[in-house]
Amino acid sequence: MKQIDKTKPVMVTGANGYVASWLVKRLLDEGITVHAAVRNPANKAKIQHLLDIAESSKGELKFFKADLLSSGSYKAAMEGCELVYHTASPFFLEVKNPQKDLIEPALNGTSNVLQSANEVDSVKRVVVTSSCAAIYTDAIDTVNAPGGAITEELWNTTSSLDYQPYSYSKTLAEKKAWEIVQAQDRWDLVTINPSFVMGPALNAHAPSESLSTLKTLGGGDMKMGAPKMGVGVVDVRDVAEAHFKAGYTPEAKGRYITSGHNSDFLEMGTVLLPKFGDRFPLPKKALPKWLVMLVGPLTNKAFTRTFVKKNVNIPWKADTSKIRNELGMSFRPLRETMEDAFQVLVDEGILKAK
Ligand code: NAP
Repeated sequence: MKQIDKTKPVMVTGANGYVASWLVKRLLDEGITVHAAVRNPANKAKIQHLLDIAESSKGELKFFKADLLSSGSYKAAMEGCELVYHTASPFFLEVKNPQKDLIEPALNGTSNVLQSANEVDSVKRVVVTSSCAAIYTDAIDTVNAPGGAITEELWNTTSSLDYQPYSYSKTLAEKKAWEIVQAQDRWDLVTINPSFVMGPALNAHAPSESLSTLKTLGGGDMKMGAPKMGVGVVDVRDVAEAHFKAGYTPEAKGRYITSGHNSDFLEMGTVLLPKFGDRFPLPKKALPKWLVMLVGPLTNKAFTRTFVKKNVNIPWKADTSKIRNELGMSFRPLRETMEDAFQVLVDEGILKAK
């Protein structure tokens, strides 16, 4: 049990990212000092939105330069912090070199950050942003889970360097985190394991796998239909709140599946129809599985036949009772999440009405 002092600074790795930006905002709004560790604090396009948030909030924001692949580089940002949020990790579903582009930064980065936690005496708790991807690979794994839904007890055993390497990177990184925490007893570890994160971006122009999916839904590529591919969805603002609660709830313990809805890719598009359907070429119906099997591999390298077989027309099921009961989390409606996310892309001129 760790009581974290809100007058002490808090470190956030990858502070400029889609998820982390909302967490930084949540902390600053609370009046907390945030040590924001980013790759390049001189890159205004990546951090201006955080500077703007800091301007109108109670907390103080300080930037530090750090890289997951550079050993010890997070130490300066960690000094004086009781609470460390480790969110930085590459999130790409299609990469050239999975070992170099995903596994090394995810795994070595986690070791690097947690090794520094071992060396910085002020640290009492580390919250790692893991993923439901560390629990399952394909929707079929969730259906086949004991009880018919994934729980925090389970680990991903089906991803590899060759199949869904992003999921593999998150599995290896989270396992490494649990291994490192067990070797000492000054700080404890809590993991937040979100499903697919959606919702409004604070920096809509930054590259993001979540936003790319939304652009695919709204940009016309799916106007003939979308695959009914089982997926869990959670609002980015709820993910930030879950991180906040994981940090400041003394009793928080272990892993937390953080997911608002057992949903599917088609539903993510159709909930947008009432508000945006008349102006944007959104999907209205499910693509037949045989067609997805045929064209999927041509549109996206990760969309292999095996992937389609194990995900399309298969529901996604997670048991979220742990986070609801222990951290008192509740989740926004899917429609609100999708509409707010889409509206930002429209307002920023990224998606244009027909
Ligand atoms: P994002 O916007 O792409 O943010 C990723 C962050 O990691 C960025 O700040 C990025 O810095 C940083 N990063 C990547 N490689 C780095 C390196 N070598 N050194 C230092 N920093 C590095 O992704 P996100 O969606 O917010 O994801 C944040 C976390 O949530 C990740 O751990 C991800 O696995 C997890 N997650 C995401 C989802 C989702 O659906 N989005 C779901 C479950 C879990 P740059 O901006 O400099 O590249």
